[in-house]
Amino acid sequence: MKQYEVAVIAGDGIGPEVMAEGLSILQTVEKLHGGLSFATRSYEWNCSYYLQHGRMMPADGLEQLRDHDVILLGAIGAPSVPDHVSVWELILPIRRAFQQYVNLRPAKLLKGLDSPLRYKGHEELDFVIVRENTEGEYSNMGGRLHSGTPYELAVQNNVFTRFGIERIVRYAMGLAESMGRKRVTAATKSNGINYSMPFWDEVVRDVHKEYPEVDLSLCHIDALAAYFISRPESFDVVVASNLFGDILTDLGAAIVGGLGLAPSGNINPEREYPSMFEPIHGSAPDIAGKNIANPIATIWSISMMMNHLGYRDLGKLILDAIEDVLVEGKVRTPDIGGRATTQELGNAINEKLLAHA
Ligand code: NAD
Ligand code: MN
Repeated sequence: MKQYEVAVIAGDGIGPEVMAEGLSILQTVEKLHGGLSFATRSYEWNCSYYLQHGRMMPADGLEQLRDHDVILLGAIGAPSVPDHVSVWELILPIRRAFQQYVNLRPAKLLKGLDSPLRYKGHEELDFVIVRENTEGEYSNMGGRLHSGTPYELAVQNNVFTRFGIERIVRYAMGLAESMGRKRVTAATKSNGINYSMPFWDEVVRDVHKEYPEVDLSLCHIDALAAYFISRPESFDVVVASNLFGDILTDLGAAIVGGLGLAPSGNINPEREYPSMFEPIHGSAPDIAGKNIANPIATIWSISMMMNHLGYRDLGKLILDAIEDVLVEGKVRTPDIGGRATTQELGNAINEKLLAHA
């Protein structure tokens, strides 16, 4: 019996609602496999915790998480706590402390769903975005001066290191090779941002020399955003800095059906530390408590977690179960045109998955 230690941070808003469905999928996976078990442990670190304790997690929070094999996160954020606090005191410290420098976000149109891009189908909408997750534009460095005067100003530093660029680009190139997809597109803006982005381009080209099989193109972020809409079929793997990747991945989610479907992995490829899997979406205060949140983004994130742990067959079964339900089209939450509740959709996927037992 192989046991994995799973830390669960359900979070705020719809986080706990979608996480409940994700955890029930994990139980089904145990039944399917027989030799696999997940010891889950819940951590109630969220905005209510912050309001009580003045911090998003205990001082030794990262220590507590370190011994787990993986972390599952629902969503963090509430109107009562400023977003920069909830993000900078919980999610970003985890991504950074555990060197989860790859933020992996598939943009893949599932069977049974239509894209808002009218002429694009499953063949055209299937690529992966690799976002740098530890440096770049989200630096926490900078300053503000002259407050209260007409000369008030703010400066935010961008941090790009050769080490940081090399490792994310290597991951993207390796991923392209392993998937048999040989095209990598790197997002840049070296025409406008004249120190960091030319450096990024240079390191991208240097790393590319190690991967002669891969077809590389560099593309300015503004044009790239437009190409996501006009010719998404031209992408296999897209690699981007932290901010550019953040924006591109929400766009990627939108063209394949919306945030309710979009999964992600925050991955430490060296496996020195736990990786973290989470839906891309936030806590959605507008629909929290209504039991209509789409659990697919979370369930798909668990499929990615299975891939990461080396159980690709199980990862695929989970994704197949999601697609089976979407193709049947009977059970859907409102965001994808139905009337089902979060549990009804979770249960339907669970049943399809169990049918493989
Ligand atoms: P959001 O992703 O929470 O919501 C955006 C829109 O998408 C809303 O209309 C929401 O109803 C809808 N939506 C999101 N997930 C859905 C789902 N599973 N099913 C159906 N509809 C869904 O983004 P926001 O409104 O900008 O942010 C709300 C809070 O979440 C903020 O506090 C923000 O900081 C936080 N946030 C957290 C994370 C995270 O935990 N990783 C990510 C993004 C935003
Ligand atoms: Mn985002």
